[in-house]
Amino acid sequence: MNMTSREPSRIFSILSPLNPNGGTCGYCSPPGERSAAKTNLHDAECIAEQLSCQAYQAMIDRGWRRSGTYLYKPDMKRTCCPQYTIRLDSRGFKASKSQRKMVNRFNRFIIQGDGKNGDAMADGMDAKSRPTGHPKGGQASQKVAAFELESAIHAAEEDFLKPDSTAVHKFEVTLEPSSFTEEKFALYQSYQREIHREEKEKNPSSFKRFLVESPLVSEDIAYTHPPPAHLPRQYGSYHQLYRLDGKLVAVGVIDILPTCVSSVYFMYEKEWEKLSLGKMSALREISLANEIRTAGALEMGFLYMGYYIHTCQKMRYKGDYSPSYLADPEDYTWHPLEKCIPLLEKNRFATFSHPEHSIAGDFLGPSHDPEVPTSELDEVKVFIGRGRYCTAKQYIEGENKPTIRAIMTLVDALGLPLAQSQNLLLYFKYVIT
Ligand SMILES: [Zn+2]
Repeated sequence: MNMTSREPSRIFSILSPLNPNGGTCGYCSPPGERSAAKTNLHDAECIAEQLSCQAYQAMIDRGWRRSGTYLYKPDMKRTCCPQYTIRLDSRGFKASKSQRKMVNRFNRFIIQGDGKNGDAMADGMDAKSRPTGHPKGGQASQKVAAFELESAIHAAEEDFLKPDSTAVHKFEVTLEPSSFTEEKFALYQSYQREIHREEKEKNPSSFKRFLVESPLVSEDIAYTHPPPAHLPRQYGSYHQLYRLDGKLVAVGVIDILPTCVSSVYFMYEKEWEKLSLGKMSALREISLANEIRTAGALEMGFLYMGYYIHTCQKMRYKGDYSPSYLADPEDYTWHPLEKCIPLLEKNRFATFSHPEHSIAGDFLGPSHDPEVPTSELDEVKVFIGRGRYCTAKQYIEGENKPTIRAIMTLVDALGLPLAQSQNLLLYFKYVIT
């Protein structure tokens, strides 16, 4: 398989521009509260009527993110809490000692139950595999058993237990295309109530809009040979269901894209908080990316955990998985997280390719005016209904300023290679003012 000359997706992507409106920010306010002013600013926003997985991959690599069918790209220079795209190299991932311990503790709970000496055994087992005299690593010569993520993550799962072994609890994980069920909605409600302390009752439509609806069009994964039964056959939006003794205890909302597994959301039942299901899900998603790759989809190799927000302590956990990289907010090249942190410590807006462009305080310059040469708009298509389209250059003739600006803004935020790709259409479905 030639990985560099991949054919563009044959699936059309249709994006409807919106006015990039700012919103209030929940990252720099006390838990459960939001900023009084609209300080969370976006460069661009749109609704995707439909989106190929390849096009979305290109978008998240330029700082975009989706919530349902709504897509947005933060205005990194101006927003109060810049949101950097973070990705973990799943092939290079090494579980930390605490991550290994957590998985072992989880597997022991499922297989042996919640025995009183459970934790004592956990520490005992770990002590055996620790190189003596070198608590933080050292030579691995005395290591007993190497921790293998893929086997450890499945070790206690019903479908992976050896035929002659039994487990006290029944633990199952299944992957299904995202869909609404009363069971998932009930879990969502309980998660909002018990974990996020949201008093207002959630309704099914907000759950559907946020966590079920997706613009992604499923496409076959380019496996080189038939994958194991538990792996997905197609790229697209999924729900990963975690069941304990038959009861739904957690759901991970994920997108499976050509080069990554992208985590959208994770919710769990408070009763099982002690099992660290959120952290377990990150390891499972890292393993999923690796398993898809091992089955022959060689482009796959990353877990995207959404945005890394250095100014928000509770979002820094995303940096606990190594090796992770942040996308430069200007040229979208990837930089090792540990090299970015000193710049993030010193600056509100940090740039990694050109550190001299970083800004410590508020940005005082003029508002961003995207400049796309009109000639480039000759290669961008605008859908005008009934199966017809014209070029964006033709479309802006005689159009009002807000519409012209909306085209420029979206084309600039998408980048020319994507905006001009053969199967991408802009579509003015909403009024732009
Ligand atoms: Zn903020």
